[in-house]
Amino acid sequence: MINKTPRVRFAPSPTGYLHVGGLRTALYNYLFAKKNGGKFILRIEDTDQNRFVEGAVENLIETLNWVGLEYDEGPNKEGNVGPYFQSQRLDIYKKYADQLVEQDNAYRCFCSPERLADLKEQQQKAKLPQAKYDKHCLHLSKEEIKNNIDAGISHVIRLNVKAGESVVINDIVRDRVEFSREVIDDQILIKTDGYPTYHMANVVDDHLMGITHVIRGEEWLSSTPKHILLYNAFGWEIPIFAHLPLLLNADRSKLSKRQGDVAVEDYKSKGYLKEALINFVALLGWSTTENDEFFNLNDLIEKFTLERVHKAGAIFNVEKLDWINAEHLRKLEKSAILKMLRENLAESKYKDLNYTDEYLLLVIAAMLERVSFVKDYIDNSPYFFERPTTYDEEVIKKRWKEDSVQLLEKYIIKISHLENPKKEDFEIALKQVAEEAECGAGRIIHPLRVATSGSGIGPGVYDLLFILGKDEVIARINNSLEVIPEIKAKLG
Ligand code: GLU
Repeated sequence: MINKTPRVRFAPSPTGYLHVGGLRTALYNYLFAKKNGGKFILRIEDTDQNRFVEGAVENLIETLNWVGLEYDEGPNKEGNVGPYFQSQRLDIYKKYADQLVEQDNAYRCFCSPERLADLKEQQQKAKLPQAKYDKHCLHLSKEEIKNNIDAGISHVIRLNVKAGESVVINDIVRDRVEFSREVIDDQILIKTDGYPTYHMANVVDDHLMGITHVIRGEEWLSSTPKHILLYNAFGWEIPIFAHLPLLLNADRSKLSKRQGDVAVEDYKSKGYLKEALINFVALLGWSTTENDEFFNLNDLIEKFTLERVHKAGAIFNVEKLDWINAEHLRKLEKSAILKMLRENLAESKYKDLNYTDEYLLLVIAAMLERVSFVKDYIDNSPYFFERPTTYDEEVIKKRWKEDSVQLLEKYIIKISHLENPKKEDFEIALKQVAEEAECGAGRIIHPLRVATSGSGIGPGVYDLLFILGKDEVIARINNSLEVIPEIKAKLG
């Protein structure tokens, strides 16, 4: 049993973006480390040269920084066990692979791709449950090996899986998982180009970096027996494993790009808050005993335990993410929303308009219960940023009556006498007009709303009027009176 300060790692292969599943893995590792006074390490698994993507690592680090998962050691934050890029550790893997060869736990294999293809075909014909290397090169003599090397025949180094008992994984999430050695192939550890495979580099680094707990996605579970055999071959202590449940689409298929966004940066650019993403991703495969659902990062650190990670696959439900986003938006400081709203405005068609903080803060407060995203302030209530150019015909059809023009004209007269009217003053004026006309307030409110905003929905009408201000309200009503009666006549 490992009983020291936890050291965990997030070990992505830089593919160009951070997958939401990767974010979940990073988050659980981070939470576990922070909760237990441990260290969270970022290691870049970049030994697959074919998959090199320019700028991928920078992008990954930027995304981790954005969500606030700060690592203790990793690129640009050297600890004692770097470098943290596998591509800078090739000598290390080679040294350890040679050690395995010397001890007969690995061997050099010179088989050509043609021979391997033949072998696979034969095994498939013979209906073997699984194609496996036949250990042909394990039996080469020292001399044959030397001759092959001298002749420049390229070779790989393979793990020598010896006959023996099943390999057992004691996983925190999945409990006991057993793999028969029969199904474990003599895995390639070092490729012909001298680069290590994932298995080799991953195990050597987890050991040398003092990783105590390996927390990663379930898709790596089938690799774990190979890793355990490697730990055993080296005589190294085996870390504790926790394999996190798969992420699924709503139809329970594996989460895929085809059914929606999978890159964290896509969610960022759609305007999701980092607080909401973290909260949502935390719940993909984990819950508290109380089943509460609304957390910030500090709450999560306090509550997170690996023991409460679920076995069953977690469904990625974007509607839930939207709901969580709205909840977080409501809890944010108004000044933070203001900053984001200004950023959104700067990228909108309203970028050249000048709004005071005071004005925007009123808009923010009035719409807070009606928005899920900061951009909704602009999309759902453009009337705070420009005069309406269209008027909702459904509302006109239902709510515009024969006396609407007259009532709105009376309202204009009533408020034009007011000086700097407050919200209540707009209300009092409206009630007076209703009283004098002996009608209900609703008879004025609905036409007034559509006249000033173009819409049938929005914040409370008195908030709307107060925010727009008296002069603007009067101007808008006057504009509308030139247009709406005609629309009404057309609609019949
Ligand atoms: N490089 C692997 C990945 O891309 C790491 C898996 C592991 O954590 O062992 O996810």
